[in-house]
Parts: sequence; structure tokens; C-alpha cells
Amino acid sequence: MSLTHCSLPVLGFAAFSGTGKTTLLEKLIPALVEKGIRIAMVKHAHHDFDVDKPGKDSYRLRKAGATQMLISARYRHALMTETPDRECTLNQLLGQLDQNNADLVLVEGFKHNAFPKIELHRAALDKPWLHPEDPNIVAVACDDSSSSSSASSTELPSTSPPRLDINDIASLVGFIQRWMESHNAQTATCDSLSPTLLSVDDGRAKILDAIAVSEHTETCDLNELPHRVLAADIIAPVNVPSSTNSAMDGYAIRSDDIEREGYRLVSDVFAGHHYAETLTAGECVRIMTGAPVPEGADTVIMREQASDDNGTVSFDTTKGAIRAGQNVRQAGEDLRRGATVFQAGKRIGAAELGMMASFGFDRAEVFKPIKVALFSTGDEVQAPGTAAKSHCIYDANRYTLRAMLTKLGCEILDFGIIEDTEAALHATLSNATEQADMVISSGGVSVGDADYIKTVLSQLGDINFWRVNMRPGRPLAFGKLGDVPFFGLPGNPVAVMVTFLQFVEPAIRKMQGDAHWQPETLSAITQERVRSRRGRTEYTRGIYSISANGQLEVRSTGSQGSGILRSMSEANCLIEVSPDVDNAEVGDRVTIIPLASRL
Ligand code: AMP
Ligand code: MG
Repeated sequence: MSLTHCSLPVLGFAAFSGTGKTTLLEKLIPALVEKGIRIAMVKHAHHDFDVDKPGKDSYRLRKAGATQMLISARYRHALMTETPDRECTLNQLLGQLDQNNADLVLVEGFKHNAFPKIELHRAALDKPWLHPEDPNIVAVACDDSSSSSSASSTELPSTSPPRLDINDIASLVGFIQRWMESHNAQTATCDSLSPTLLSVDDGRAKILDAIAVSEHTETCDLNELPHRVLAADIIAPVNVPSSTNSAMDGYAIRSDDIEREGYRLVSDVFAGHHYAETLTAGECVRIMTGAPVPEGADTVIMREQASDDNGTVSFDTTKGAIRAGQNVRQAGEDLRRGATVFQAGKRIGAAELGMMASFGFDRAEVFKPIKVALFSTGDEVQAPGTAAKSHCIYDANRYTLRAMLTKLGCEILDFGIIEDTEAALHATLSNATEQADMVISSGGVSVGDADYIKTVLSQLGDINFWRVNMRPGRPLAFGKLGDVPFFGLPGNPVAVMVTFLQFVEPAIRKMQGDAHWQPETLSAITQERVRSRRGRTEYTRGIYSISANGQLEVRSTGSQGSGILRSMSEANCLIEVSPDVDNAEVGDRVTIIPLASRL
């Protein structure tokens, strides 16, 4: 179930090197094929492994820059994908298999990943057993079946998984067939019993599918543009720079006139002015940075090399030879007139704003801000600024949400804390749906929650109550109230922030027309063991930094309870441990999601 990208049974072989994994598989595979089982294999190889050979066309095309190389011939084809930044996860690799043309996936390697495996063990190697440390081992195939075995270090504990003879291929095949049957039966019941248990990726995909890009655009003044998303391309109306100009304070001459003792100074050219004549041989102008280079001139010598003797200028070439065309910026060098500067879907920040201003634009067409209605639920929740009541907590969620929505440029309709009665929730939701493009609540969506919000939501719209395979943030409600998307976030303050980042922010970005809704991720080496459970995506609050040798490192902020908001404040990233890994160990590479630009 953790390997969400694969509907086939996946079975690994775990062993110390030297046990003969490949040799065994070479015998096992034909025996399985004989039973009509079509096998797909995934094998992990060492760091610099390459299936290609130097000199082959495919190799040359890859080296030329093709990051995906699909080579095909009559009897087989192969896809080679360059992954310089991060190695593919087992789950991603499984997703690339043609699952319609296999019945069973066998895996060699990936020993730290959480998925069913058969442990292979040979007594002669005198290695410890793996299954006491790995709960994913479903059987042990070994050659020390005799109970009189004297090697105490390899003695099998009594609570161990079923034991098979590593040399008896027929019994291994029988075990695998039975295991496949029970695996397939289990998957079928799991799917029908828990239709609402979802992975983070699947949940986000469902949400994004249901969200449409806003159709409402408007033209705004420059000052209103920061954080907004462009609704139309920005086209350069002029060349940048608009004229060929000097990159230095110095003297402009002709490049066909470099070899000369002294030049007659004919004019000064300041920025914002120009020299109306054509510069002829023997002449120079004194020119300032950014000023247009006169007709005829094309080379600028910096002031520090020049000496001016009563209007005759000479240059000291011992301080640097003069090269034709030096220190001159050509018109249109940065951008040609008519070129697309920004595409629709680009979010406007300081640099974009400056560039638009530099073209002389004082306005642009952008998507209208998304109106988001917001409220908190729960009888125990009270507003900050009111006297503390016993057994109550102050409303934190509305404020974290308001801050994150503001950062995204949303317009906020704050409905406050809603009393936990059917009438109050009904009125608020109807009201919010009429006015807003999106409605967000927090609290009351967990399974077994006594709050009325679930009842009212079910009456008013088409809402799914999901259990997402993640921590923090398992309960999540999503659906539509009429046409308006609704998010029912959990109550726990950290869970609210994490689910907002993973689900609500991408949805808002899509609605806003933002082409780049994917959150930025980086890869870092963990300095601590990061706890995780297989089948679940874990978000640990982390602090990343760069080590003395330039490596990105990360550690956790400490206590990780989903009510501990301080952990979010101390964190500068979330450490994401994917569902197909048990724990991340010290020194492992983990995915981190930087938070600086998002909170
Ligand atoms: P719930 O999902 O409603 O069961 O809430 C889970 C936990 O989050 C409970 O301990 C609530 O008291 C807490 N909680 C709910 N809403 C808020 C809020 N607006 N601010 C802070 N904590 C909250
Ligand atoms: Mg509650």
C-alpha cells in the first residue's frame, strides 16, 4: 500500500552481499515464468552505473544534453533518464513500469525501503539475520534449516517469519504464489473498505483536478501589482538597452582608429544627452556610463587610462590593451523589441515590477485576487483579546491562515469563530459561499468529531471527508459548495499549516492562474534519524543550513506534536519522508521543502 504508484504485488530480496541474490533470481525467474507469472524487475545499482556505452549514438546524444533517451529496436527498447539532482524513489521507478504487462515485480536492492521482502541467508557467511530489524520481511529463505545448527549468531528466533529452503526453488515458487494471492485479496478489500484513505500526491491531484483557473482579470496600476499573477504576456516595446551606450565613464573612439598617439576631445556626452555629429578619425568624446555612444564611435577606454593635455587625450596602454568594441553595451543586447519578457501565469515580484517600469509600463493585466472566506469552528475556541475562559484555547488557526493567504495575495473575508450549532454553521457556510471564490474552515473534520460542521457540509454540498496518509494532517475535507471549492482543515495548528501548504496553496495558485504552483524542494543530508512510518508521508519541522564543506544539511526542530506551533516558527523547512521509506537514518538524503518564501 505504501508503493502508491504500483498496483502489482512488489516483492524484494534482502541479503548481505555474497549471499547470491542474482544467482538465485536467475533460477527463480524461469520457474515463476513457467507458472505463467510475468515478471518485471527493478534492480538498484552502484552510483555511476551506466547501461550505455561510450561511442554509441545513444550515449553521444545523452552527452549532447538529452536528459531522456528512449532507444528502440525490433526486440526491445530502453529509457535512460538523467537524474543529476536526486535519485528516483522506488515508488517513482515502479510508476514507469508497464504494469499491464506484468503480474509481479521483483526488486533487488532498496533494502532501506519499506515493502515486502524475502530475506536470503546462508549460514556459511555467518551474518546476522535481517528480519528482527525489518518488519517488512515476509519469509526467510536459508540453508541452515537443520535445528542442530551450532552457529548461535545465525540461529533463527522463534517469532520469525516462515522459513524456506533457499535451494528448493519449487517451494519458493509455491510460497510466492500464495503470497501473491493473499496480497491481491488484501488490496481488493483495502480499496473497498477505505475509499477515503489517500496519499498526499493523489489528494493533491484530485484537488487540482477540481479547481479551475479564474476567469476574472483586471488592469492594475504598478503599485497594486506585487504578488499578483499576470493574465497576459508582457512584450518588450523597445530594445533594452534602447541605444548603444557606454558601460564605463571614459572616452569613446572609433575602433578603426585605435593606433594613435593623441585624440582631439570634441565633446562631453552625459547620460540623457547625445553627441549629434559623427565621430571621425582623430577625435574622441568624454562619455559617462549609460550615455549613448556617438555615431562612428564603438569603443570606450576607461577614464583611469586616460590623460587629457589641453584637449588632447592619450591612453596608457600599459594599464590594459585597447580592444575594438570594448566597454560598449549594444542596443537590444538584453532584450529585443517584440520579445516576450514575461508569460501570463508569472507572479510579479520586485524584479518583475522594476522591469515593467523600465519599459515605461504603468499598468498590467492581472488576475483578480481570489476572495477566500475563512472561519474557525469548535466550542473550545475563543478569540484573542477576550478574557480567557476555563477549558478554552485561543484561536490560532485563523491567524496563521490569514497570514499565509495574505502572502498569496488573496482577499480575506473573515467570518470569525462560528458557534458549533447547526443553524450558525448553516448560515455561515451559505453566506460565505455567496461572497467568496473559496471557503476554508479549521477544526471538526476528524473521524469521530462531535462537531456539527460535518453534518452541515454534507447537507450543503458535495464534500469528501478524507483520511490522508500523512502526519501531521490526516483528516481533510474537500469538495464543492455549489461551484465554490471548500477546504475543511484539521484543528491542530501545525496540521493546519502543513495541509494548507500541501493542498490549499497549490489550489489557490492554480485558481490565480499561477503557472508555478509546485512547491520548491531541495535535497539535504539529515543529521538525525527522522522518524517515519511506512505508508505515510511524514512532515518533520526542520532547520537546514550549509555545512563547512558546502553540503546542505538538515536537523529537526525537536518536539513534533501537531499542536506545537513553536516548531513551525523555529523551522525553516519541512523534512518530507515519503511513504515508501521507513525512517531516514543519519547521513541519508532527504527531501526538504523550504518555508522562507511561503509563511
Ligand atoms: P479538531 O480537529 O476539531 O478535533 O481539533 C483538533 C485540536 O485542534 C483540538 O485540540 C482543538 O482544540 C485544536 N483546535 C481546533 N481549532 C483550533 C484553532 N482555531 N486554534 C487553535 N487550536 C485549535
Ligand atoms: Mg473540534
